[in-house]
Amino acid sequence: MTRGSVWHPFTQHALQPETIEISAGEGAWLTSSSGARILDLISSWWVVTHGHRHPRIVQAIKDQTDRLDQVIFAGFTHRPAEELSRRLLDRLGGVFAHVFFSDSGSTAVEVALKMALGFWRNQGEKRTRIIALEYAYHGDTIGTMSTGARGVFNASYAPLLFDVVRLPFPAKGTEDATLSALRDACRDGGAAALIIEPLLLGAGGMLAYAPDVLREMQTICWESGALLIADEVMTGFGRTGTFTACEQAGVRPDIMCLAKGLTGGSMPLAVTVCAKAIFDAHYSTDRTKTFFHSSSYTANPIACAAAVANLDVWDEEPVQERIDAISEWQESFIAEFAGDSRFTNARVRGTISAVDMVVEDQGYLSGVGPKLYDFFIARGLLIRPLGNTIYLMPPYCITHEELAGAHAAIRDGVGMVGSQ
Ligand SMILES: *Cc1c(COP(=O)(O)O)cnc(C)c1O
Repeated sequence: MTRGSVWHPFTQHALQPETIEISAGEGAWLTSSSGARILDLISSWWVVTHGHRHPRIVQAIKDQTDRLDQVIFAGFTHRPAEELSRRLLDRLGGVFAHVFFSDSGSTAVEVALKMALGFWRNQGEKRTRIIALEYAYHGDTIGTMSTGARGVFNASYAPLLFDVVRLPFPAKGTEDATLSALRDACRDGGAAALIIEPLLLGAGGMLAYAPDVLREMQTICWESGALLIADEVMTGFGRTGTFTACEQAGVRPDIMCLAKGLTGGSMPLAVTVCAKAIFDAHYSTDRTKTFFHSSSYTANPIACAAAVANLDVWDEEPVQERIDAISEWQESFIAEFAGDSRFTNARVRGTISAVDMVVEDQGYLSGVGPKLYDFFIARGLLIRPLGNTIYLMPPYCITHEELAGAHAAIRDGVGMVGSQ
């Protein structure tokens, strides 16, 4: 146990005084300083895709540190960024034309929102309305909190948040309400963009919706001219079963944000990719039309080299086969929850499974969350429920046996917590 000067994220230190010091990671496993082994079933907050310290990515980082550590990215460029940009656009099937770098999912979304607003203003059009989904999560900066769901996470900052049009979540059977709210929001031509998490809302509670709703939302955007921004920060890099969730739904957004899995979970890096028209609206000899955004470490060469190595892994290893296998295992394990009255809403989207524990106090602050977390940690499993929603988002090197053990632990944990 360490208790020091560090202020940890999303942590109530008064209730959670202990933090576990991790000294090593390998594949799907973490090792604590006291020698405990912990199976990482949430990919260390959704970032680690192939496992910790994939040899190829580690080697690329080592090699890059011998050549170039960091360089200003305005007026200068470097091989890792150029190669990453080219190969990523290829991977995304030629839908996008340009890549803008930043360092986190939140900044990638901020960049997307700024691109959308700049796109309209540079063309002299008064379109400023942003449309977002109920239960959305897009990050923790002021702009991304504004587009995300309002609640306990951001109540203190409400005075700083801008208004968006909020669409009801397209739960099964209620999709029409979502679509007609979107039509209403687009009707007067004032909508700048719709921002969505495609197919699966992550931090909002692993809420899945159907691909055809997403396609229908795209059609409404196209008809009204509003831009479509896909926040694939979590869903990207195979999480929902395909490289991107949009690809699976046959959707081609104008702007896409990628971050968590971009370097395989080794280095902080993000990109906002966009269609040619977005770039072109900023391309001008008039300097006021410049895209005014940067962060100090934009396109850090070491992080870019890690991301290139990650794409090598995708190209040369059977990553899709691993994802397909995990998806099948998840489907078979989650089916066992169906007849169990302690659970509801068992669901799978690609490599991710989730189930809700039946409780009276639902939501993120549900009292069962921390109890379950402690139970899992005592079993050597890193599973961090979102309130009463228990989900597994394993790295792609997880084995059938490890995943089976995690599902068994969920049943045991809920049995234990439920009987208290
Ligand atoms: C995690 C997440 C973000 C924010 O990414 P950070 O790197 O934590 O800033 C944005 N959007 C979605 C959908 C996310 O899951």
